[in-house]
Amino acid sequence: MKQLKYMLPESEIPRQWYNLAPDLPSPLQPPLGPDGQPIKPEMLSPIFPMGLIEQEMSPHRWVDIPDEILEILCRWRPTPLRRAIALEKALDTPARIYYKDESVSPAGSHKPNTAVAQAWYNKQEGIKRLTTETGAGQWGSALAYSCQLLGLECKVFMVRISFEQKPFRRIMMQTWGANCVPSPSEETHAGRTILEKMPDTPGSLGIAISEAVEQAAMDSTGKTKYSLGSVLNHVLMHQTVIGLEAKKQLALASEKTPDIVIGCAGGGSNFAGLAFPFVLDKINGAEIEIIPTEPTACPTMTRGPFCYDFGDTAETTPLMPMHSLGHTFVPPPIHAGGLRYHGIAPLISQGIVEGLLRPKAYDQITCYNAAVQWARTEGVICAPETSHAIAGAVDQAIQAREEGKEKVILMCFSGHGLMDLAGYDKFFAGELSDYSLPPDELKSFLEALQNLPKPPVQKTGRW
Ligand SMILES: *Cc1c(COP(=O)(O)O)cnc(C)c1O
Repeated sequence: MKQLKYMLPESEIPRQWYNLAPDLPSPLQPPLGPDGQPIKPEMLSPIFPMGLIEQEMSPHRWVDIPDEILEILCRWRPTPLRRAIALEKALDTPARIYYKDESVSPAGSHKPNTAVAQAWYNKQEGIKRLTTETGAGQWGSALAYSCQLLGLECKVFMVRISFEQKPFRRIMMQTWGANCVPSPSEETHAGRTILEKMPDTPGSLGIAISEAVEQAAMDSTGKTKYSLGSVLNHVLMHQTVIGLEAKKQLALASEKTPDIVIGCAGGGSNFAGLAFPFVLDKINGAEIEIIPTEPTACPTMTRGPFCYDFGDTAETTPLMPMHSLGHTFVPPPIHAGGLRYHGIAPLISQGIVEGLLRPKAYDQITCYNAAVQWARTEGVICAPETSHAIAGAVDQAIQAREEGKEKVILMCFSGHGLMDLAGYDKFFAGELSDYSLPPDELKSFLEALQNLPKPPVQKTGRW
């Protein structure tokens, strides 16, 4: 009988996070402030605790994970590494497909890995309350759970259309004790300004970020901070427990390095969490194809230029060096809510510039077909975001069949889709269609970047 899952005991949970920044062969460009100069740590302190700002700028390759965080992570970690034998069989592929199952966390995705850490570092500095934004509610529910465990208040600005149309994650947040309001709201200057102009707006992630940041920055007691679920260096670092565990589990499965590593990327955190420990191997000479995947409707990595851009619509964040579709980008209403951000993590962007990462885009129908094939073979119903990783893995497995090669494919199963069944319903009803961003639309979004500074495009040429 073939082994289906590889488990690690709690004693084998990683004790350190891995920080890719110091190992990048070509340097990460710094974020820039309003004056065009690299930002200083103090400039971030109104919204983030110093412990996390230090991690954001850390030159250290390994960062110790505090015991109290490990104790919470051990409620569901180490997560299983599973082998997708049933899918392999259905595809008739000689490839061996392994997936790290992050859907087993209480919130149903990888997001609590960083939410717990962020809540803990805030608590250490006497913070009482965290604010954040959420789209479909994955991140808001992960932070609500984490704040509850650590005794912090949690305030979530949820994009209004999701608040109204996707009640289940809102109810999860309430169950975990968070205060969740639709955004734009009357509670902030940013929200009131938008409501005056557009009373019927469905809201957007960019608006919700502006509201959450404002509420943290404006608390005169200094006891409120803001929390972001992806994109930033420290968030990606917190997720590396995924890849570090996977390495040990692949060894249990008697596999050496994988040939292919795949994850879907919205802001980039679950992909980075799985892939970065393997990027280090690639830097040291291993031959691994490392593939972040995204929707053709929001082709940040495959069609967005590497540029300096704002993280939010209101232009309040520092300028980040990243592949971007422009901060005015209005995403089409595809169902993968977590993959609709206009930018992608700077660490991933620099990895793409260097040639270490090779992104691919898949369209919505291909992804739902892969999701359904997965559900009918492996069993678990995946999140719409995760279907982009599955589409990538299926693609590679078919290629391995055509080449007649026994490849080892490692994938991040970022979350289950039990709160996202409405998307499946639409797919079965034939109401979904493929959408690729038209070139002239992309061009007009990119015009907003014309007068911003340009980062140098640096690469060693080794990959
Ligand atoms: C949020 C989310 C994503 C996208 O976010 P990343 O930061 O790119 O990982 C992917 N999958 C699931 C299940 C999510 O909840």
